[in-house]
Amino acid sequence: MQTAEVVIIGGGIVGSSIAWHLTESGCRDVLIMERESHQGKGSTGKSMGGVRAQFATPVNIQMSLYSIPFYASFEAQLGLPSEYRPQGYMFVATRQSHLDYLTTNQEVQKSLGLTQVRMLTRDEIVDMVPQLRADDVLGGSFCPTDGFVDPYSVMVGFTTRACEKGARLWRSTEVTGIICDNGRIAGVETTRGPVSTPVVVNAAGPWAAQTAALAGVALPVEPLRRMLVPTEPFDGVSHAIPMVVDMTNGFHFRPEGLGFLLAWNDPEETPGYKTDFEPAFIEKVLVRAADRVPCFENLAVNPKRAWAGLYEMSPDHHAIIGPVPERPGFFCANGFSGHGVMHAPATGRIVSDVILEGTSSIVENAEVLSPGRFARGALLHETAVL
Ligand SMILES: Cc1cc2nc3c(=O)[nH]c(=O)nc-3n(C[C@H](O)[C@H](O)[C@H](O)COP(=O)(O)OP(=O)(O)OC[C@H]3O[C@@H](n4cnc5c(N)ncnc54)[C@H](O)[C@@H]3O)c2cc1C
Repeated sequence: MQTAEVVIIGGGIVGSSIAWHLTESGCRDVLIMERESHQGKGSTGKSMGGVRAQFATPVNIQMSLYSIPFYASFEAQLGLPSEYRPQGYMFVATRQSHLDYLTTNQEVQKSLGLTQVRMLTRDEIVDMVPQLRADDVLGGSFCPTDGFVDPYSVMVGFTTRACEKGARLWRSTEVTGIICDNGRIAGVETTRGPVSTPVVVNAAGPWAAQTAALAGVALPVEPLRRMLVPTEPFDGVSHAIPMVVDMTNGFHFRPEGLGFLLAWNDPEETPGYKTDFEPAFIEKVLVRAADRVPCFENLAVNPKRAWAGLYEMSPDHHAIIGPVPERPGFFCANGFSGHGVMHAPATGRIVSDVILEGTSSIVENAEVLSPGRFARGALLHETAVL
């Protein structure tokens, strides 16, 4: 029988970050299982690639305070690109309650060391994006170290370097069962045969709940469709602008290639494995785009280039990270609720630390993300979800 010190189920950005962090810490006998013939066919390949530290809760802010500098030095550390572009995130407030919310969050962000984040006046917002309709804008916030990465490159970089240090990636290999012995993890059943291992990490993205069920663990992660619309080339707005978030309705956009990438969280979306792009979404997002940026009414869109992917939603919109006490040897790295790319480096580090040392100090209290918090009723509350 094949053996491994650690088996990681899922070769997306999260699984590959965990593999890299483990190998960096000296744990080299790591086996990543990916059921697809290529990595990136899950959420990672569908992502908008946004990275930000402008969150409400300390743990999310601290996850970003590890991850964003990590992305900034990714190429120096790994010798491969992350395509990190620090163009910032700009939140645009049209109600006093938005401004109060941004101000409160900034106090927490600054107290944790995010020094560059600042409030903006309406004039400063217009200076940054002159094409924005600002008659109802009261102000906003901006952090210049927020920005974008290329999730696919990051995933490939992590995997490449992890494999050079001894990790293995089995493509086209589905984990179909998890073997336990006296309640402890003992191995996995796969379409390539069984593998003996004392440690299994669930990094199965939107399929996390089924994967946990193989180990007899109930994990509250649900898939939720999100759609993105890339535009055709458009130079009516600068390509140096930040990710702009219209807090009136959650519409947000950023430069992408020669055009822009448009996103909006449709409140009518319901959980499920729906990955078809819904053509009616184009009209919905374009209406909101032209409302905030009038010249966007001239945007051209090719519906064939638009796509849909799955968020992996947890009940409190925070990741679920750590060991499952009732199943020794089973670890979760799931439920990122739209933040799995920006938090992949921190997650890799925390999971690696917890497997190898039993604890991690890169965030003040990684325990708050533990899978057991739902049973204890210790849910977190993140309101800055896009
Ligand atoms: C439209 C969209 C926009 C997004 N925008 C952002 C953003 O701007 N910023 C951000 O931070 N996040 C964003 N996200 C979220 C982010 O993409 C995800 O949180 C992240 O990619 C999760 O990575 P993962 O590795 O956990 O999951 P995945 O990339 O889904 O990888 C999981 C892998 O597990 C494999 N797998 C599942 N079950 C098994 C099994 N039994 N055996 C073997 N393999 C298995 C799957 O094939 C898959 O490849 C976005 C997501 C979407 C859909």
